[in-house]
Amino acid sequence: MSASSDEISEQLEVLTDRLDTAEQNIEGLRSDLEDRSLEEKVRELERLVNRDPNTDLPIMRQFYLQLQHMLEPDDDTPKPSHLAVGLLRLDNGYSRIRNTRDRNRVLLFKTGDRLRKAIGDNVYQSDRFDEFLVILRGIVTAEEVVATALELLEEVAQPHAGPANDISFGAYIGLALYPDHGESREDLVRNAEIALGNAVRTDSRAVVYNDTVGAAFREREQIEYELRRISRSGFENFSLVFQPFVDQNNVIRGGESLIRWNHPEIGPVSPGRFIPIAEEGGAIRFLGQWSLYQSCRHIRELPDDKRASLYISVNLSPQQFKQPDLVDRIGGILESTDLEANQLNLEVTETIVMDEPENALAKMKDIKSLGVRLALDDFGTGYSSLSYLGQFEFDTLKIDRSFVDRVDESDSAQTLLRAMLSMARAFGMKALAEGVERQEELDFLWSEGCDLVQGYYFSKPLPWTEFVELLEKGVP
Ligand code: C2E
Ligand code: CA
Ligand code: CA
Repeated sequence: MSASSDEISEQLEVLTDRLDTAEQNIEGLRSDLEDRSLEEKVRELERLVNRDPNTDLPIMRQFYLQLQHMLEPDDDTPKPSHLAVGLLRLDNGYSRIRNTRDRNRVLLFKTGDRLRKAIGDNVYQSDRFDEFLVILRGIVTAEEVVATALELLEEVAQPHAGPANDISFGAYIGLALYPDHGESREDLVRNAEIALGNAVRTDSRAVVYNDTVGAAFREREQIEYELRRISRSGFENFSLVFQPFVDQNNVIRGGESLIRWNHPEIGPVSPGRFIPIAEEGGAIRFLGQWSLYQSCRHIRELPDDKRASLYISVNLSPQQFKQPDLVDRIGGILESTDLEANQLNLEVTETIVMDEPENALAKMKDIKSLGVRLALDDFGTGYSSLSYLGQFEFDTLKIDRSFVDRVDESDSAQTLLRAMLSMARAFGMKALAEGVERQEELDFLWSEGCDLVQGYYFSKPLPWTEFVELLEKGVP
């Protein structure tokens, strides 16, 4: 599971702290060891070696030993017929707490303590400071396991009295059952970890491993693997399709370029699935550069008279947007493809604005000064405030298709869409409605003065040659 550099450095700090604490403890111990009985000394030493200094919970090695002992007893302890291994990780609510390190340590201790009170000795500290391992015994079905897991999560989520306000945070838990999901401790822990990854990604609190979760994980691994080697393997399995933007006179004014991927093992994978993974792993920078170049090259190929009134619209991902040399890259592509800047439009989402508004503002100004157009994509789906809309000089507002869907059937949907259109006008932007599928939706949009539409009503995204044919033929 990938951790952000913030998480890693936080973990490093915690580990360093642990080492410090252990050293101090040893120092302290050395001075008062003389006064104790041998038995006491051994107990104290054991505790130091086997327990986590933050939570006083037994550490991961103890967990492995205990699990091993349960699954392959070397004495005549009976082997359990069933058990569950759970991996519980605190959610972002915890990392967002701005507290002193000591207070955070107390919160970790209290969390461990709550778990211990709930299920006794079967709680361990994982190698991550914000992760706990549990062994649940005497539970047979997945439903029972989930019920117990949810009780644990509820315990964790109880508010802690803080200096000013109460503090609360939640957790996710991934679980694997013995013997259904593995007979060895390694398999059980691995599958609990896969289930935890699924829980975090899908924002479901408790996930029990199953074949579907396992298959999704393996598919994700296959996708990640291929994306990692993209810089070496090239783009032969990738292609672009183009979807027209149509105006009120039924004239095609441009088109959005959308990526398609035929994975060598899995087959076609939708961009909705692989773009977020490429974004996480960094491959999007290669893909984005490739798609930007190809898109510009394609439109430049059109005869001048046909091209004159058209532009090509390319999605720019947040990772791409963050590249320090982005503006030079865009300029370089325009130069090498010999395309006029105003024939290129870049689509960005609100995410890039939210991260670092000042930086984003400066960068967008640079992009605009190349002469390239900008569109705000998926408008209405983000969480950011509207205050930036005036500052950023977007040429086009792309209204997300969720606002267009069945707009003719609901008064409140119409009010909302009308408001978006007048907002676009107020800021001097063109409004483009996405995902128009039905005549009724189109009628409403045209009657309210929307400038452009995109959607299956006019055309699905098409391979380049078919897109060119459509340009010639025109839309009905
Ligand atoms: P998006 O930018 O919002 O693109 C529009 C999506 O809506 C496309 O899905 C398109 O095929 C789909 N769509 C268009 N008209 C209709 C319609 O009438 N009804 C419905 N139900 N859907 C319609 P697609 O091609 O699967 O792309 C999904 C997302 O993947 C895109 O959403 C975009 O965020 C991302 N993406 C695609 N290509 C690229 C790329 O080259 N670079 C980057 N960074 N992202 C890309
Ligand atoms: Ca888009
Ligand atoms: Ca969109």
